[in-house]
Amino acid sequence: WLPQVKGGVRKKSGLAHRKSLNDSLEGEVKAFLLDEGQLHTYDDLTKVNPVTPTTVLKCLQARYRAKVFYTHAGCTLVALNPFQPVPDLYSLDVMKEYHCAPQPQESKPHIFIVAEEAYRNVQGQVEPVNQSLVVSGESGAGKTWTSRCLMKYYATVAASSSLMKSQDTVERIEKRVLDSNPIMEAFGNACTLRNSNSSRFGKYIQLQLNRSQLLVGASVQTYLLEKTRVAGQPANERNFHIFYQMMTGGSDEQRREWKMSHDQRFAWLPNAEKTLEEDCFDETVEAMVHLGINAEKQGHIFRILAGLLQLGNVTFCSAMDESQPCDLEEKSKDFMHRCASLLCVPVEELQTCLRVRTLRAGKQSALFKPCSLADCSVRRDCLAKVVYAQLFEWLVTFINDSICADNSTWCNFIGLLDVYGFECFQFNNLEQLCINYANEKLQQHFVAHYLKAQQEEYVSEGLEWSFVKYQDNQGCLDLIEGIPIGVFSLLNEECLLNRASDAKQFRVRLEKELSDNGSMSWDKFSKQPHFTVAHYAGKVSYQIEGMMEKNKDPVPPELIHLLQKSENPLLHQLFADRDPVGQGTRGLRQVVTVVSKFKNSLENLMKILHSTTPHYTRCIKPNTDCRPLTFKKEEVIMQLEACGIVETIHISAAGFPIRSCDCSAFVLVLQALMDSLAEAELDDAEDLQEAMPTELDPILRARGSVQLSSIQEPVMVRGWPMGLALASAPTITVSMTATGFQKMMSVMACLNGHCFRSGDYKVETNQFKQGVASIRAQPRGSIKLHYQRSPLLYADLHPDHKRDGVTGLNQILLEMSCLNHITAPFFYI
Ligand code: ADP
Repeated sequence: WLPQVKGGVRKKSGLAHRKSLNDSLEGEVKAFLLDEGQLHTYDDLTKVNPVTPTTVLKCLQARYRAKVFYTHAGCTLVALNPFQPVPDLYSLDVMKEYHCAPQPQESKPHIFIVAEEAYRNVQGQVEPVNQSLVVSGESGAGKTWTSRCLMKYYATVAASSSLMKSQDTVERIEKRVLDSNPIMEAFGNACTLRNSNSSRFGKYIQLQLNRSQLLVGASVQTYLLEKTRVAGQPANERNFHIFYQMMTGGSDEQRREWKMSHDQRFAWLPNAEKTLEEDCFDETVEAMVHLGINAEKQGHIFRILAGLLQLGNVTFCSAMDESQPCDLEEKSKDFMHRCASLLCVPVEELQTCLRVRTLRAGKQSALFKPCSLADCSVRRDCLAKVVYAQLFEWLVTFINDSICADNSTWCNFIGLLDVYGFECFQFNNLEQLCINYANEKLQQHFVAHYLKAQQEEYVSEGLEWSFVKYQDNQGCLDLIEGIPIGVFSLLNEECLLNRASDAKQFRVRLEKELSDNGSMSWDKFSKQPHFTVAHYAGKVSYQIEGMMEKNKDPVPPELIHLLQKSENPLLHQLFADRDPVGQGTRGLRQVVTVVSKFKNSLENLMKILHSTTPHYTRCIKPNTDCRPLTFKKEEVIMQLEACGIVETIHISAAGFPIRSCDCSAFVLVLQALMDSLAEAELDDAEDLQEAMPTELDPILRARGSVQLSSIQEPVMVRGWPMGLALASAPTITVSMTATGFQKMMSVMACLNGHCFRSGDYKVETNQFKQGVASIRAQPRGSIKLHYQRSPLLYADLHPDHKRDGVTGLNQILLEMSCLNHITAPFFYI
């Protein structure tokens, strides 16, 4: 449903022209930055003029210094991580303030504005009624924090507890929804180099509201848990929090039960000496109790986890006789026994399935082949990963069963999407490809959503419209998800072939099939087989080695058989229904690959997003060391670019106070009804002058003025009287005269929205050759100026560094935050 993009790139007007523009831009940047004392007052980055990375950054920096952490960027909210508690920023009183404010948008930018706006949209029942709050940003930027704030906000303002008596056994729903957080974080978050509480999975939390917009339930959908972390952690990082919580929080009795002596060290628990505030076992257990995970179930869970820790200490060595399975290192024998005992599986079988491959030959007979030393370790890790991932899934299902409302009780929802941001490391593999693919999808949604909204409006009003070219990442998406040929489909094809994967061969295949796609390239000097994708947020090189194996994610059937025999009831339940060999109904081997699963779940997510009203929050990490009050410009700009914010501001703000914008005259005509009121007021106005539009006093024109006319004789006024005159006009037609866009803006602001207080109105203008083609205002509060051609002077310069960059715009939307007040101008292509 992407709108057709008409129009195109404005012609480049030569080097000389460009140079003069650059000079004048530089001058204006300097002039803007001179006003240092005022920079922090810009609560919307689209108001910054001119928009350059320098001016945007300076504003954000000034705000950060002034301890102002939220800033609008057009339709998006930018949240800078303070890396320190900010007193009273999220208190109950502040929540109430935003919730009760007649116009929350007029209050200081805050995440609660986003929350409240979404909530009021549901109350207003304007289609699409359901809402999505998309929170993005790189690791450590503040997504989890923001999601928590949003959940707390709704748990407070939409609390149903005042109506429902809290019961003894089952905790109130808001509490249960909030309690799902510590559990998910304990099992799904870990300390990484970038963030001590990094979510290692994506999640979409649907907050379910009843007819009275009270929170009656919730459900959680998770994406791509980084299960490899359970059996291996990057240098200086840690395993999932829950393991450390057990180590620091378990009682002596529990440790005995978990066969975990105080002095035992675990290979899979690096950096255990580091104490973090996240290591709060009691809080996790308390949340489990509230959600209905009783002591018995907790016992099963913790024994499984303790078993995995013992498994991690098991190491193998080559057998004397090469035809025999590998041996266990002497010290590993005890760990193996403890592991088997905790997982409640026979120790011999556990040892065998880690060291011997069973090859099926026909229905009955089987061949046994010793695994190589490396294979033994792979199997050990695989066992831990599959158990942990399954346990995580079970927890999510349990949480959902506990917090999900009956379908008949809720009718609308507000969804919170907390997704991993764009990732680019030194070495990138399948995980990064999936994560960056998800970000491409979200970016496309972000851009398309607004274009779609506009197109629909144009169509509904029968207006002719045109857009200039905008950044479209469909090419990159085609490269990744394209059918029949795309990186994902080629990867899947390899998995189906069921042969040992060869990275070099796969690289050749990719080049042969996909070299036509402009988003794909190869570094000729790199020795490692790889491919490079030009994402909207930057280029990322993916190493091919190991990618096919990761995609297949094979689990040896022997391991599943073993787990199905477990006498730990929970572990048994986790694998009871699993088909060990993945036999399809017709006996064909079914390979459900990682990318297929991910793509499917992402498609479902996108369907939900498309059916809801989205709100975007971009979290920014001001420095990589997580230090308070430290603002690193280079790091911030990279993030703004990576999440598309710079682009958004460019698109949004490019037209603002644009120097070349020729807003000529608009004709204002009051209805037969309003004349007397208007004239009475105008008679009192000091600034009142009478003039015909064609004979405008040049000084007045330069200052910016409003022309107000009755049907016969238009009158010239400046500023406020017009607001008064129009205060109760039921239907009006407005026209204004101003030579510069900025002046016109100030005139508009001067009106202070009074003219837009009443419900229905339509604003029409004269048609001008190069100026405004139409101006429309709607009861919901926005005013659109539709230009016949782009008013963007720097259209061919900003942003000029991108291949398919935005090159201009021909429409400006002045969005009013409410019916009666113009707060911030927003500009859309
Ligand atoms: P992400 O989920 O994006 O990886 P987090 O939400 O976990 O990042 O944030 C990382 C850390 O930054 C948090 O643990 C917290 O210490 C700090 N932080 C984030 N947002 C805020 C905030 N608004 N106020 C205070 N501290 C914050």
